[in-house]
Amino acid sequence: MPDKSFLTWPFFTDRHRALADGIERWCEDNLPADHSDVEEACRELVQKLGRDGWLAHTAPDPQSPSPLDVRTLCLIRETLARHNGIADFAFAMQGLGAGPISLFGNAAQRQWLKRTRAGEAISAFALTEPQSGSDVANIALTAERYGDGYVLDGEKTWISNGGIADLYVVFARTGEGPGAKGLSAFLMPKDLVGFSIAEKIEVIAPHPLARLKFERVCVPASAMIGAPGDGFKVAMATLDIFRATVGAAALGFARRALDEAAARVRERKLFGGPLAELQMVQEQIAEMALDVDAAALLVYRAAWAKDNGAARVTREASMAKLFATERAQQVIDKAVQLHGGDGVRRGAVVERLYREIRALRIYEGASEVQKVVIARQVLAGASS
Ligand SMILES: Cc1cc2nc3c(=O)[nH]c(=O)nc-3n(C[C@H](O)[C@H](O)[C@H](O)COP(=O)(O)OP(=O)(O)OC[C@H]3O[C@@H](n4cnc5c(N)ncnc54)[C@H](O)[C@@H]3O)c2cc1C
Repeated sequence: MPDKSFLTWPFFTDRHRALADGIERWCEDNLPADHSDVEEACRELVQKLGRDGWLAHTAPDPQSPSPLDVRTLCLIRETLARHNGIADFAFAMQGLGAGPISLFGNAAQRQWLKRTRAGEAISAFALTEPQSGSDVANIALTAERYGDGYVLDGEKTWISNGGIADLYVVFARTGEGPGAKGLSAFLMPKDLVGFSIAEKIEVIAPHPLARLKFERVCVPASAMIGAPGDGFKVAMATLDIFRATVGAAALGFARRALDEAAARVRERKLFGGPLAELQMVQEQIAEMALDVDAAALLVYRAAWAKDNGAARVTREASMAKLFATERAQQVIDKAVQLHGGDGVRRGAVVERLYREIRALRIYEGASEVQKVVIARQVLAGASS
């Protein structure tokens, strides 16, 4: 039985507690998903999550817009991740992919949100390029003015939902200024001439990922999200919200690992008694529980601060992502160790978690990048 005592913390309202119960029940009824075809699994999960109303939390309703509730996003991600990594991925990408539209889209662009919220359209966030992963300002894909639109030329890589997405938010160089000052964001439907999937990328915890190619792809000027030159701001503001939710997913993986480890050491008998009676084992369990609670405090602090009107939560979100992902890796590693050989047996829950957690320390800003962000905020005397 997972620890739910954190739900009594002052970060949450009764609405959040009811939502946490609801998503738990949904997971029990609908998960785990069949992973044998990862693209099909994602499509089905997006449809189900949309059908049952969960994706409505990933973007504002264009009819009556209200801000995203980051605590809700975090609670849903934590719960989905505790049950099934691919379900968390399907939910999270609908929010991240549509995030720039939610935050900066105009009324016409926001019409897409009806479809992403209902699970009828899959979204993708296309920022990374081969030479500009951590170095976001070094984006090379160009968007050149042509008549009353833009022509996109270049490549994106490591794009989640690449190949199954219906819409892509693409960050491109429009050249208003050097580096980060010369980028803009574009909303691009999947079926434009010149757009193709150059490569499907396989990773240790499979989910849809692709390298994308843009060969003279024409988009109208109305496809631009925000103003020319605003692309970096659009990307960073989106990540500001969704970074804390990566921490929440890591927290879900860590909680599951702790639960699995606690059950295992209670049941496994060695040296004449349960493994749980050995003090060195208790030390492991104590450290895991401490990391889980500390991560939860940082994740929900960042989410609460954003929901309570902070304009930016750069420092809090980076701390939450950094701590929760790094410590989840350690918690899961301890859980594998406590399972002995069964911990590395293919198909074991902790073996799956061991693979699932790894990429979270890299994407949406590697851990080292989060440290740079936090240090800059502290040295600049910024409170967030
Ligand atoms: C599973 C997965 C899903 C992804 N999904 C998306 C997506 O949907 N959309 C998208 O746009 N991108 C996505 N990405 C890309 C991801 O954001 C990048 O992989 C990430 O930003 C790192 O870029 P890189 O891989 O080019 O590594 P590099 O930029 O080459 O960095 C390599 C390593 O160098 C170190 N490093 C980097 N910067 C610093 C620094 N300042 N100081 C010290 N050390 C540093 C870090 O250890 C880092 O891991 C995804 C990646 C993965 C693995």
